[in-house]
Amino acid sequence: RTVYVNGEYLPETEAKVSIFDRAFLMADGVYEVTSVLDGKLIDFDGHAKRLQRSLSELDIAAPCTMDELLDIHRELVKLNNIEEGMIYLQVTRGAPDDRDFVFPDPETTKPTLVLFTQNKPGLADSPAAKKGIKVISIDDIRWGRRDIKTVQLLYPSMGKMMAKKAGVDDAWMVEDGFVTEGTSNNAYFIKGNKIVTRALSNDILHGITRAAVLRFAAEAQMEVEERNFTIEEAQQADEAFITSASTFVMPVVEIDGVSLGEGVPGPRALRLREIYLDESRKAAV
Ligand code: PMP
Repeated sequence: RTVYVNGEYLPETEAKVSIFDRAFLMADGVYEVTSVLDGKLIDFDGHAKRLQRSLSELDIAAPCTMDELLDIHRELVKLNNIEEGMIYLQVTRGAPDDRDFVFPDPETTKPTLVLFTQNKPGLADSPAAKKGIKVISIDDIRWGRRDIKTVQLLYPSMGKMMAKKAGVDDAWMVEDGFVTEGTSNNAYFIKGNKIVTRALSNDILHGITRAAVLRFAAEAQMEVEERNFTIEEAQQADEAFITSASTFVMPVVEIDGVSLGEGVPGPRALRLREIYLDESRKAAV
């Protein structure tokens, strides 16, 4: 694989980042994952805008312009022949000369920019989407700025492990009795023709796929209600699903051991997935 590190395209075995990099020592960095379909980028603009916001909330300098970032994405897609897959991008506060809690001087310590591709043939035609996924609920014990897409992913990783140990696919996190989001996705249920999902705030990541799916809801003759909901309410729903850049719209068929509807992906979630994929392919760059 050819990867990108601070201005250079290199074989992955030759790519290097300092041990003093703030992301390595302090999780002081942000990331984005953009999917690729038909060799083109899905919603690049949305991801670039969210990256800029994450950087500015943390006072990390942008490593380059968003146009340059688009060029790097496209170059990596070309160099690695990606038809379907993902591009991972990470920006960190950079690598000062020593470990120190205080932010380094941005004049001397420049941000680190790393990108690599993940080849995933069959990403859109996913077997998991035909079967649906099962989730458990876990406590949300993350920090209070989940709207910033930081590389601080230890708890989400632990959540995936709890799910794995429970023999299911993923976990939905619950805080003060209400679902916040999935470990790496936004969470929804469907009742009648209504899609219910938590409203945007600092409590959840502002999913790029979420924004697109809610925009497309009207095309599926569905209404959107952004509000808090409990696991019990989702368990009694007709359908449920998650969204993320790498899973698109993924049906959820079981929550904490309770099957939803027939226990198979529901027609509305599958329709939303179809619309999302169609529209995204059309708008891909
Ligand atoms: N919430 C969390 C916690 C996530 O990690 C992600 C994906 N990284 C999402 C939601 C979905 O965001 P997006 O649709 O932009 O991938």
